[in-house]
Amino acid sequence: AKHFLARGRQHAGLGAFLATNEEATLAQARSADQRLAAGDAAPLVGVPIAHKDIFVTRDFPSTAGSKMLEGYRSPFDATVVRKLAEAGTVNLGKLNCDEFAMGSSNENSAYGPVKNPWDTSRIPGGSSGGSAVAVAARMAPAATGTDTGGSIRQPASFCGITGIKPTYGRASRYGMIAYASSLDQAGPMARTAEDCALLLSAICGPDPDRDSTSLDVPAEDFSRSLGGSLEGLRIGVPREFFAEGVTADVRSAIESALQQYEKLGAKRVEISLPRTELAIPVYYIIAPAEASSNLSRFDGVKFGHRAKQHGDLLDMYRKTRAEGFGDEVKARIMIGTYVLSHGYYDAYYLQAQKIRRLIADDFQQAFQQCDVIAGPVAPSVAWKLGEHGGDPVADYLADIFTLPGSLAGLPGMSIPVGFGAGGMPVGLQLLGNYFGEAKLLNVAHRFQ
Ligand code: GLN
Repeated sequence: AKHFLARGRQHAGLGAFLATNEEATLAQARSADQRLAAGDAAPLVGVPIAHKDIFVTRDFPSTAGSKMLEGYRSPFDATVVRKLAEAGTVNLGKLNCDEFAMGSSNENSAYGPVKNPWDTSRIPGGSSGGSAVAVAARMAPAATGTDTGGSIRQPASFCGITGIKPTYGRASRYGMIAYASSLDQAGPMARTAEDCALLLSAICGPDPDRDSTSLDVPAEDFSRSLGGSLEGLRIGVPREFFAEGVTADVRSAIESALQQYEKLGAKRVEISLPRTELAIPVYYIIAPAEASSNLSRFDGVKFGHRAKQHGDLLDMYRKTRAEGFGDEVKARIMIGTYVLSHGYYDAYYLQAQKIRRLIADDFQQAFQQCDVIAGPVAPSVAWKLGEHGGDPVADYLADIFTLPGSLAGLPGMSIPVGFGAGGMPVGLQLLGNYFGEAKLLNVAHRFQ
């Protein structure tokens, strides 16, 4: 823990950490020492970890990358944080992210962007950019992330690390500051699939009293599935994931990864996910709709920021929200309230929900022909800071390959498979069917 704290200080310029609390970290490390001394051989005892600032924590402030929650202290730990602490991990601190997890580049954080350690003029991806950078720059052996539309997979890909988003409902959302509740899912980000398997085993499991969408599926020991043969495994490669817009460097890194899998005994099957492109408008209707509802709690009354100068109650709400939220968050609240409003609800929100169902059906069709699906995580490697010039649509379009799996609630991974333009890492996306985490982790592990 001391080593990683020092490493964090040394690379503070990358902007990954939003909060540390050395005293709390070392106290946890000491109790891990006691567990070890008492002969506790559980695999995560004493393993340092850092948490995305979307998870609320008692020992550290929790901001969700927003000014709205500057200095906020939660009276409890998120279930994921608590479970990992019970498994023996030592919390190194809280990691930067896009404000309320809305973004693909970490440039939407109220606390400044995070820099990609492979090239500090580039973005690390988002929204779990701080988590990916902490692991990639060896400031933490592992981190938690959350994935609503790609926020574990895409930064993992851009920073050359491994991340897994489980099936929607496998990890409790309790204490995860909500963005889009029907999509939000927690997962680990680490160097290898093996490390992710250990962490995911600790994270998953039902939380019936605290998260009504948590599934009644017991936690598994995912490490036990590692090492299985890939002989005869059918890897579905969706035609639509190689459409124009995917850069040549990404294409060739993915192609050689697929060839590697064929050498390991897997078979390649061409499949189709015909509504891939529709995932963008569908997601950017549903996610803002849910966000507009979730973010209504930030009204200056119960917690977080409250405007100092204000008139009556309505004026207090208005000024508090004007001051506390960043531009992208405000844009999404407006889009969300618009698509939910009378007269537009049927045309946008309801329509999007119907197409969401069709996207999920497309995957079920595809899984009749294959065991896992593979393709790029994103159409290009990490772009330069500021390159999208504040154009949110440029960011949205880059989410095209992660959004379909999210809308369907499927488990997904990113594993590092090569390098592209500028020597930047390229990740391979692996998507599994519901509860296919063990299979995915094994497929990832065989490559590594
Ligand atoms: N980039 C997507 C968005 O901005 C996904 C973010 C996420 O998964 N949290 O909504």
